[in-house]
Amino acid sequence: MKKVVIIGAGFGGLSLGLRLQARGYEVTVLDKQSQPGGHAVRLQERGYTFDMGPSLITAPELIEELFRLAGKRMEDYLTLVPLDPYYRIYFWDGSFLDYTGDAERMKAQIAALSPGEEKAYDAFMERSRQFYKAVIIDGLGERPFTWRELWKFLPQALRLGAFRSSYSLAARYFRDERLRFTFSFHPLFIGGDPFLAPAVYQMIPYLEKTGGVWYAYGGMHAVAEALAKVFQEIGGTLFLETEAEEIRVRNGRAYAVRSSKGEFPADIVVSNADYYHTFTRLLPEPYRLSPFKKQMLWYSMSAFILYLGVRRTYPERLPHHTIALGPRYKGLVKDIFRRKVLAEDFSLYLHVPTRTEAGMAPPGSESLYVLSPVPNLQAKIDWAKAADTYAEKIIRSLEERIGLKGLRDSIEVRAQFTPEDFMRERNCGFGAAWGPEPVLWQTAVLRPSNRHKRIPNLFLVGAGTHPGAGVPGVLLSAKATERALVEAYPLSSRSQSKLYEGAAFLELRER
Ligand SMILES: Cc1cc2nc3c(=O)[nH]c(=O)nc-3n(C[C@H](O)[C@H](O)[C@H](O)COP(=O)(O)OP(=O)(O)OC[C@H]3O[C@@H](n4cnc5c(N)ncnc54)[C@H](O)[C@@H]3O)c2cc1C
Repeated sequence: MKKVVIIGAGFGGLSLGLRLQARGYEVTVLDKQSQPGGHAVRLQERGYTFDMGPSLITAPELIEELFRLAGKRMEDYLTLVPLDPYYRIYFWDGSFLDYTGDAERMKAQIAALSPGEEKAYDAFMERSRQFYKAVIIDGLGERPFTWRELWKFLPQALRLGAFRSSYSLAARYFRDERLRFTFSFHPLFIGGDPFLAPAVYQMIPYLEKTGGVWYAYGGMHAVAEALAKVFQEIGGTLFLETEAEEIRVRNGRAYAVRSSKGEFPADIVVSNADYYHTFTRLLPEPYRLSPFKKQMLWYSMSAFILYLGVRRTYPERLPHHTIALGPRYKGLVKDIFRRKVLAEDFSLYLHVPTRTEAGMAPPGSESLYVLSPVPNLQAKIDWAKAADTYAEKIIRSLEERIGLKGLRDSIEVRAQFTPEDFMRERNCGFGAAWGPEPVLWQTAVLRPSNRHKRIPNLFLVGAGTHPGAGVPGVLLSAKATERALVEAYPLSSRSQSKLYEGAAFLELRER
């Protein structure tokens, strides 16, 4: 049982592929796109370079670990630089906060916004640290989640208030609505509704604080490229522009993947493709989601993204990352996740890599990525008609609300990506860009499991499985899936790679 075929070269597929290849399995990764990285692909036009999806790097140690397992040094492939501030948040009233990991600077800014509330910062961060400890240090995020695991975690979870909503946790510490936003919005980073996502996701503020927020030269896609390179250097096989069409199953076992480029025989199959796609398209009929299960699943939000190449720069208004809030928080979140309507107002997330790496655009120019969270395709929005008007509204708002003077007249390159593109280009069910929504009943043991329940040699990796979306979550999911897979199908000592033994030894010594 050595031959593993992984469908999808997102961070989940690449990192699991690398882990298994380093151990001695024979791994083949297929992806329908022409670049590795999944959401983290790159757009280049007339000297402007854009990351099309993720941009904010946290928990860099999870990335570095992959290079070490392969017997490589990350510095030989990637240059990571820390960002400070992590991001600027423009509030609805024009005030702003430069969010950073530096407690004193944070407290000073909180005091300026709402005197007295700075006292709550340390207590909030301590709560966040406790969630972080359970998920990262105690390893809940890197093991397949079982009922036994839940049972063990339950007393701690109840004590920490892990099941209340992220917003209600923040509201226990802060009164000012701007601060409640600042300390509750993090689930949005992983496709979650802060008013429903369990407070355990409030580990993210501590994860950022302790590990920092980073940028990789060349952008997030450079990380995916480096992982793909290392995977191939240690003997892994990567086929791009190869779309899986069916996971072939006989006598309850997966034995091959049929694709646009022929059939790939496999001892073990892993899907890194979107969960809904895997369970409605790739698996044969008896294993597909029943109409009832389809009905019961909650899908994350989607995104409308504008990529603007601009012949001028805005260093005073835009640091590397910016969040620009519209007038509503709860109401807007409700429109996106529950009512599923395209609201008149919006909040935006901006990424300006040129602030840190000038080479991402021609001299004197800015490469600008603007993301607006929008409902997934369960909303009846015809994006072919709506997209241009929506983009125009965003550009106007950037000029008027954020003060990007002369933006429209300086745009040299303009591209956009809609929920329909998420579905068409990356097979995201309902164009939901973050997989199944992280609500309590789709978290931990209730999230699609890392190993298929009825097909023992079929595994899942990536945002749709435990622990969930976001690059760190997906890298942890690769660890959880690796553990389940290796336990079920260990290699004989003859097949085990010397490389992995060396890497494991290195890790032990460092601890
Ligand atoms: C717009 C956006 C911004 C984000 N920003 C951040 C951020 O700043 N920081 C962060 O940490 N996280 C961020 N995230 C979340 C993070 O990017 C994702 O959770 C993560 O990249 C998902 O990785 P994955 O491996 O699970 O799946 P994906 O990246 O979705 O990869 C799955 C791959 O499977 C391929 N595939 C699908 N079907 C098939 C098939 N039939 N045959 C072959 N291949 C197939 C797809 O082409 C795709 O390449 C963002 C996500 C989005 C959408």
